[in-house]
Amino acid sequence: MTSLHQFVSRSSRTLLRNFQHGQKRDLPLLSSQYTQTRSVSLVPDLPESHEMLRTTCRDFAEGELKPIAAKLDKEHLFPKEQVKKMGELGLMSITIKEELGGAGLDYLAYAIAMEEISRGCASSGVIMSAHNSLYLGPLKKFATKDQAEKYIRPFTTGERIGCFALSEPGNGSDAGAASTTAKTSGDKFVLNGTKSWITNGYESEATVVFATTDKGLKHKGISAFVVPKPTKGLSLGKKEDKLGIRGSSTCNLIFEDCEISKDNLIGKPGEGFKIAMMTLDEGRIGIAGQGLGIAQASLDCAMEYAEKRIAFGAPILRLQSIQNKIADMAMRIEAARLLTWRAAVLKDAGRPFTKEAAMAKLAASETATFASHQAIQILGGMGYVSDMPAERFYRDARITEIYEGTSEIQRLVIANNIIKEYSNKA
Ligand SMILES: Cc1cc2nc3c(=O)[nH]c(=O)nc-3n(C[C@H](O)[C@H](O)[C@H](O)COP(=O)(O)OP(=O)(O)OC[C@H]3O[C@@H](n4cnc5c(N)ncnc54)[C@H](O)[C@@H]3O)c2cc1C
Repeated sequence: MTSLHQFVSRSSRTLLRNFQHGQKRDLPLLSSQYTQTRSVSLVPDLPESHEMLRTTCRDFAEGELKPIAAKLDKEHLFPKEQVKKMGELGLMSITIKEELGGAGLDYLAYAIAMEEISRGCASSGVIMSAHNSLYLGPLKKFATKDQAEKYIRPFTTGERIGCFALSEPGNGSDAGAASTTAKTSGDKFVLNGTKSWITNGYESEATVVFATTDKGLKHKGISAFVVPKPTKGLSLGKKEDKLGIRGSSTCNLIFEDCEISKDNLIGKPGEGFKIAMMTLDEGRIGIAGQGLGIAQASLDCAMEYAEKRIAFGAPILRLQSIQNKIADMAMRIEAARLLTWRAAVLKDAGRPFTKEAAMAKLAASETATFASHQAIQILGGMGYVSDMPAERFYRDARITEIYEGTSEIQRLVIANNIIKEYSNKA
């Protein structure tokens, strides 16, 4: 199988850099010189490299994921073979540099890949995003050389995956209230507490985990650790029986006097909350991609059905009320996609992107819910049964509004940033 970096060659990455550079430049928008001698394209065509990546991921999802997505959902099966193939393609280490065995691509590539994979199978999408953004993401930024060799390199091929343990039974949105503790004991840390809702919990061979070393310091007392699995003192809770994304596992990670070396600390003591928030900023671009994939699959399904379904002597696609739904779905998808790509391009350009990532995640996840709801309506009774995928899209869409920050939390993040921008102007 051809890997992603064979498609996205060094020269085509230069093309991407030029593309980003064009976005960064301060163009004199009102000068006549500008309008006469320069042209700037506001048409968001992707660089050729990224179009190729999109086609590769789309073909893979169509051929390998879409045909089995219903079975994975019904039987709660983890797509082990497919995850391995995704690893061979480079999809399980998209933004990890090539020297460490990764694909060495950017966040725009990641957003595009997440959409295409999730369009074929949203469960495979979340397995990929939890591994890429939540597990590898913080390690990529904060791992020491030794940690990178141990916890990044062997996790780039799809053979081994990781997970991210921040949420607890007592706190999800309020992540700073972590009650899992990490106490020092000689040259070790001893972890105690329960982490809940952990994606890839069953299959992962390492986890990034957040625990407080000093409760009195509140969120400033939280540190980040990487813990291999299995490790003595770390056990798994039952697999959650979920509404959607049922091909991915979700469970509690239970730490009971779990001893780890001090070398397993990521970053500095007390930096955990900052690491978690940075990770989630980036992760939201991935979940936006997942939402887009589900929304696009819903539109595909609705279009195919509406062209074929005859009512009152003609395809229902001719009915204006059906066309209105199609128009609204397509418009929202396009708007959310633009927000997602913009957040990714800002991140790749090294510019602030917290607000834009929250906007992208909010827009794409609510679009996924909207589009899958409309798809069921267009399919009528066939939308309500599992013979057609629309009901699965509807179930899968729902989680995109909950994990990596609920829609309410995204609105808080956006509003806080807007308030700051206005107060800076005053
Ligand atoms: C399938 C699945 C997979 C997950 N995967 C992971 C994972 O891999 N790792 C991980 O660490 N976590 C994971 N999570 C946890 C997920 O991130 C949390 O469920 C989510 O952040 C919400 O937290 P909560 O469930 O505790 O809800 P709560 O925080 O209790 O929120 C309940 C309600 O109150 C609202 N609310 C809370 N605070 C505010 C506020 N300040 N303003 C306005 N409204 C507010 C929320 O928006 C929500 O509507 C997963 C969850 C699920 C269901």
